[in-house]
Amino acid sequence: SELVALRDICKRFSNGVLALDGFDLSVKANEFLSLLGPSGCGKSTVLRIIAGLARPTEGRVIWPSSCNDDRRRSEIGFVFQDATLMPWATVADNVWLPLRLRGVSRRNAQDRIAESLALVGLSDFAKAYPRELSGGMRMRVSIARALSVKPRLLLMDEPFAALDEIARFRLNDDLLRLQSDLRCTVVFVTHSVYESAYLSSRIAVMSPRPGRIVAEIEGMPPGPRA
Ligand code: ADP
Ligand code: ADP
Repeated sequence: SELVALRDICKRFSNGVLALDGFDLSVKANEFLSLLGPSGCGKSTVLRIIAGLARPTEGRVIWPSSCNDDRRRSEIGFVFQDATLMPWATVADNVWLPLRLRGVSRRNAQDRIAESLALVGLSDFAKAYPRELSGGMRMRVSIARALSVKPRLLLMDEPFAALDEIARFRLNDDLLRLQSDLRCTVVFVTHSVYESAYLSSRIAVMSPRPGRIVAEIEGMPPGPRA
């Protein structure tokens, strides 16, 4: 079934850049969809539009089964390109952030924080500060932060781009396992053909200027690979 659809989206920025034009995409429940394309083709803009962080100039975003804006927003987890953790806050307080923005007190968030850190294998690091962690661990904290809201839809913007290849391989497998445990839908932005082929149940290939989908490729079923 369809989770969200983008129909004939056009996005022109105030400086005149036409980032997307005639952009169509349908995201199906429980798929692992990669948006694959070169830098600057509009992948982040697509994620931001799905998340409601940017408004399309023209076109529509359709959520067939969601009741209202607040509910839908609460069901989206966003993982940014660099971990973007607050350096002055502990790992646990970083994971709390999206819950805090939704009005959940630190005390009431405690169980969710602990669960999310357990999912990414960082239970022992709740009281650590980001600077004490490796790059791979920081990225896992930022995944835990996105998971803390129990998202139905996880949007990931080149999350592993800054990591070395070994950390990246490991996180790819962790992510596939997480997705199958949590039964969530993932839209994963990457310019890596390898990464999209390994991870995805479907790949949407984008071309730039203006950004639009030029091919769709079926991948392997969602879930762990080995
Ligand atoms: P990608 O994620 O594929 O690298 P982006 O979605 O970040 O691509 O950007 C698509 C195009 O839109 C690029 O040409 C970029 O320079 C431009 N762009 C992105 N954000 C803005 C903005 N806020 N203002 C103006 N131009 C932007
Ligand atoms: P990097 O991007 O630096 O390779 P990794 O996530 O691969 O990051 O972790 C690098 C090192 O950090 C590991 O060798 C290990 O010593 C430590 N580390 C990572 N995760 C954990 C964990 N859950 N518990 C204890 N140590 C960990």
